[in-house]
Amino acid sequence: MHPNSLSDSELISEKKFSKILAEISLKIRQSLELDYILNTAVAVVRDLLNVDRVFIYKFQSDGSGIVEVESVSYQSRTIINEVLYDPCFKEDLINLYKNGRVSSATDITNSNLPTCYVELLLRFQVRSILVVPILQGDDLWGLLIAHHCIDAREWQNSEIELLQQLSVQMAIAIRQAELYQQLQEELKQRQQAQTKLKQVNKQLKAKLTENKIYADIVKNMQVGLHVWQMEDLNDVSSFRLKATNPAVTNLTGYQEKEIMGKRISECFPHLLKTDLPEIYAEVIHSGKNRDLGEIEYFEQRIPHSIFAVKAFPLLNNCVGILFENVTVRQETENELKRQKKVMQMLTTMNPDGIFIVDTEGVIQFVNPAGALLFGRTEDELIGKAFGFPLVVGERVEIDIVRPLDELRVEIGMAEMRLGNIIWEGKEAYLASFRDITERKRTEKTLREMNEAIAQEIQEREQAQNQSQEANKKLTNWVEALESRNQEITLLNNMIDLLQACFTVEEACQVILPLIQNLFPNTYGSVFKISDSRMLVEAIANWGEKIPEETLFAPHECIALRRGEVHFVEDTQTALTCQHLPQPLPKTTLCIPIMAQGQAIGVISFYYQEKTNITKEEHQLAVTLAKQFGLALANLKLQETLKIQSIRDPLTGLFNRRYLEEFLNRETYRAIRTEKPIGIIMIDVDYFKRFNDEFGHAAGDIILKNLGSFLKQKVRDYDIACRYGGEELIMILPGSSLENTAKRAEQIRQEIKQLSVEYDGILLSSITVSLGVACFPEHGKTGEKVIQAADAALYQAKYEGRNRVVVASNY
Ligand code: GH3
Ligand code: MG
Ligand code: MG
Repeated sequence: MHPNSLSDSELISEKKFSKILAEISLKIRQSLELDYILNTAVAVVRDLLNVDRVFIYKFQSDGSGIVEVESVSYQSRTIINEVLYDPCFKEDLINLYKNGRVSSATDITNSNLPTCYVELLLRFQVRSILVVPILQGDDLWGLLIAHHCIDAREWQNSEIELLQQLSVQMAIAIRQAELYQQLQEELKQRQQAQTKLKQVNKQLKAKLTENKIYADIVKNMQVGLHVWQMEDLNDVSSFRLKATNPAVTNLTGYQEKEIMGKRISECFPHLLKTDLPEIYAEVIHSGKNRDLGEIEYFEQRIPHSIFAVKAFPLLNNCVGILFENVTVRQETENELKRQKKVMQMLTTMNPDGIFIVDTEGVIQFVNPAGALLFGRTEDELIGKAFGFPLVVGERVEIDIVRPLDELRVEIGMAEMRLGNIIWEGKEAYLASFRDITERKRTEKTLREMNEAIAQEIQEREQAQNQSQEANKKLTNWVEALESRNQEITLLNNMIDLLQACFTVEEACQVILPLIQNLFPNTYGSVFKISDSRMLVEAIANWGEKIPEETLFAPHECIALRRGEVHFVEDTQTALTCQHLPQPLPKTTLCIPIMAQGQAIGVISFYYQEKTNITKEEHQLAVTLAKQFGLALANLKLQETLKIQSIRDPLTGLFNRRYLEEFLNRETYRAIRTEKPIGIIMIDVDYFKRFNDEFGHAAGDIILKNLGSFLKQKVRDYDIACRYGGEELIMILPGSSLENTAKRAEQIRQEIKQLSVEYDGILLSSITVSLGVACFPEHGKTGEKVIQAADAALYQAKYEGRNRVVVASNY
């Protein structure tokens, strides 16, 4: 309940009205703070009207509104900060407010307010409402709204008017506050800007000072500076000089204005280093500093100079080049180096020891002879104390102690002389030492030697005689050696030739000329022991006196009998071999030819005159025989191998491999000559039984005998082979079928007659079955014909064995 409610009281008098308005206006106009103004306004109005809620609804730029400030009675709900959305609040209503219209309702449920609006208000329990616009010129800034809840309340005209007036005052205060706020904002921004400006200024100032310092450095420094800009990054000739410093004028001889903006080649046409543009470009591209080392500079305007040059990258495709004149430094260094070098050169070869010692007595330099004199290295001595008195003038003799090894020392003597010298720009001493150790020693020895000399002269005469003799001996040796050398060469040749021989005859042809060459005073024979080892036969002779005797028994040669060299110096007195020719030679030398430990022959050397053979000759003859023996053994081996490879060891007949090769060759020949080849295949009948009865060894004897028999039977151009086991084949080139069949029959009969003995027992005779076929009648190849012969043999077996069957024609 509102006991003071105006609806119940009298009208607000004119006077009171003015007073209240003046009070409120003063209150709100005293402040520039919008919040305060609005809060004060709603509080005063609610107090004045004695209503439940007074608030200001402020329109926002999008047309919606928000409850900005509120004064509310403790029973009522607060709506502060709520965005009230009134779906009925239309444009025309806004326009009405803009025209200053006030809207009021004593009881909203009984008013002409739109229903939706009433519903919204009822949610807040509103019963009576009074709305006064707050206008800012033509703009509707907001609404001053009074709600009374639960009870209906009547709005007096004076109250409405008061609020209208108040709203005008509020609008003014709001405007002022907003302006003030805006001003404050601007002020704040301006202050911030100023602070910022101050900071920037400060930095700028600092930068300027720094730059000035740099500029001063650049201006005053003695090092030259060029800044080159590469105008086209793809063109190394596009460098132009952008900046220099004053030092450049002195260093290069060019004024700044002469070179500024020019290209490298225009500025420095005499510069010897021509790849500078490439190097500069590289510095720019890589962004890395680069030390260009020392560059020589030739320019007529200034003396020849050497610059130490460094390049470093700068912004905007620039490269900075710093160059320092190092000519003087270099020259001084060079001069010192030169002095040192000259000294070294002058003294290295000098046999005298040379030392340079500074005024403090410290060794600064020593030559190799000096170091050697003291038994130390140059490095060991430099920097050490000299140790001798530094007195310029006369020669002095001094003792020198030098280490020989870790334990021993040697005492020597030297002559020392000291002089003055300028060394590396300073006064110093030059000491020269001459080693007189040897001289002193020699002087002593010389005295001793003088005495000895007389005696020596005597001895020398004797020695001279001896040496003449020795010389003579030496000459003889040399001659002997030369002839030995020749012999060895000949012998080596012989060995090579012997290895190439295929037959014994060839080997003899090699050895005979050699014997004649090496033993010119001899004649003789090369003998060979026969395979039966019963006879010795001359296979070659040399010399004019060819011996008549050509055959003898092995025991007749003493060398062969004893298996060693037999030399007879005088055949008249000593025991001689029985195979010697007539007339008897005076001296003989028989050397057995050995092969694999067995004598296979003998070489006999005969001398017409009695001769004392030297050891060398003897050795030579032995070597010769040995090599010949080796060659013969080799030949025999070759022959055996050849036989083994084509012969069957048991029967001595050709083997199957040879048969195939032979048949192949013969069939070609037969085709060419249009002649036949007869083939006989032989198989022993019931051989197995024979083996069983007499044993395998007896069987072998039978096969061996069969082999020998067939070997006798074949003509020159026929061959007999062992085909396998106890099967044999005969190939008869040129033989017709008829002849071959005849031969087969003949063989069959003869084999039947063969009597074979084994272990003293006469074995029972054997029979064979034979198959005969002929090329080309029974086959186009040798193989085919053998097959045909085999088939015929099979037929012979089938028909009862011990018979010949000729292959059938097809
Ligand atoms: P046939 O030929 O009449 O039919 O009777 P065979 O008993 O001879 O039979 P075959 O030809 O098949 O047998 C061959 C025998 O010959 C078998 C083997 O005992 C014997 N033999 C084969 N090679 C040799 C050899 O080198 N030495 C000995 N002793 N026997 C052999
Ligand atoms: Mg057989
Ligand atoms: Mg058989």
